[in-house]
Amino acid sequence: MTVVTRFAPSPTGTLHVGNVRTALHNWLWARKYGGRFLLRIDDTDLDRSKEEYVDAIRADLAWLGFDIDGEERQSARFALYEAEFDRLKAAGRVYACYETPEELDIRRKVLLSRGLPPVYERKPADAPVPDGIPPHWRFRLDHDAPIEWVDMVRGIQHFEPKTMSDPVVRRADGSWLYLLPSVIDDIAMGVSHVVRGEDHVSNTAAQIQMFDALGAPPPAFAHEALLVGTEGKLSKRLGSLGMESLRDAGIEPIALAALLARLGTSDPVEPVTSLAPLIESIDFGRFGRAPARFDEAELALLNQKILHHTDHDAVVHRLPPAITAPRWHAIRPNLLTVAEAADWVPVFDGPFTPPPTDAADRPVMAAAATAVPGIDWGADPWHALTAAVKEATGAKGRALFLPLRRALTGRDHGPDMAELLPLIAKDEAVARLSAA
Ligand code: GLU
Repeated sequence: MTVVTRFAPSPTGTLHVGNVRTALHNWLWARKYGGRFLLRIDDTDLDRSKEEYVDAIRADLAWLGFDIDGEERQSARFALYEAEFDRLKAAGRVYACYETPEELDIRRKVLLSRGLPPVYERKPADAPVPDGIPPHWRFRLDHDAPIEWVDMVRGIQHFEPKTMSDPVVRRADGSWLYLLPSVIDDIAMGVSHVVRGEDHVSNTAAQIQMFDALGAPPPAFAHEALLVGTEGKLSKRLGSLGMESLRDAGIEPIALAALLARLGTSDPVEPVTSLAPLIESIDFGRFGRAPARFDEAELALLNQKILHHTDHDAVVHRLPPAITAPRWHAIRPNLLTVAEAADWVPVFDGPFTPPPTDAADRPVMAAAATAVPGIDWGADPWHALTAAVKEATGAKGRALFLPLRRALTGRDHGPDMAELLPLIAKDEAVARLSAA
């Protein structure tokens, strides 16, 4: 079997963390099995769909590194939907309905008040057809065919069609609801695995009968527990947390992928620097049914950890030229974001204004300024410098290291000085220590 997955966003907004997670899992699954990953733009709602969102979705997927093997748009496929709809109509699997929303609402309330499930009540075949009202259309569930599938996340799922309402598949104005076009497309595109949020489970129950009615076997399904914010709820913030704000915050796409690949699974989140290990480990059987908690602070921390072992090659196009490979290696443990690397350029090359020296540190500074011209910069200048200053002044520990670090870098904290100092030109170091 060829694995084919699809990510099917509606272009009525930009991607947020929740749908990026769905995209990622579909992409990982296709890549793991050498299959195809399709982008299906669900733009049947012509009023709400916008081209700018389609562009933003493509750009975000590219930023994340999820390459696509094909793109389809539902708005270009209406002729196929029409043909399949006619076929279902001829077979009696879709039928016209004339109730207004108000009538349906009243019936629902009546049923509920009687303690009955608010299931749509089909009209008898000979019910009068009202004049001048265009019908909307429902799919006729087969009440004698219990619905069952083995969900890759949730295990055996069972639905009794008698307890379900026949779903509306087409509005009176001829426009399509999501359910049927999605099935028609999944069949036409050979989709083998449908990976989506558990909010679609009851849709799947109806769609399984649609596959059958259209004469196709259903794909495999994985319905994932939803993502929730740290407060344990589907937060507004999470629902709107877009890629642009993450990019602006300096989050690397691989950090987001690393977190979203493992969140809600029994596997640990790891600071990977490529998607390859995530491809290898994707396994829907390892996803739990409890909501997965997404924590922005955890993402920021993971981003930082990933930068600590990100190679210069991977970021060079985003670094100032002064941040050479050895300099990147020296500073990366101190970075929260790649953009912060630019802050280190003056530390290496100036312009540099040394901070004021504490009176108590003057002897250390004087000894350092004297020692530094004679030090071989090609060997291990930091150890040579500290040894010379210690010998001359008796200073040690913090009293020795901190004033030197401050005078040489302008900061109290930072990378290992033994690694950093050889990356600052010797005459710069001489100038800084003499000035201090
Ligand atoms: N456009 C649908 C959605 O965003 C697609 C659901 C599906 O994956 O089938 O919810």
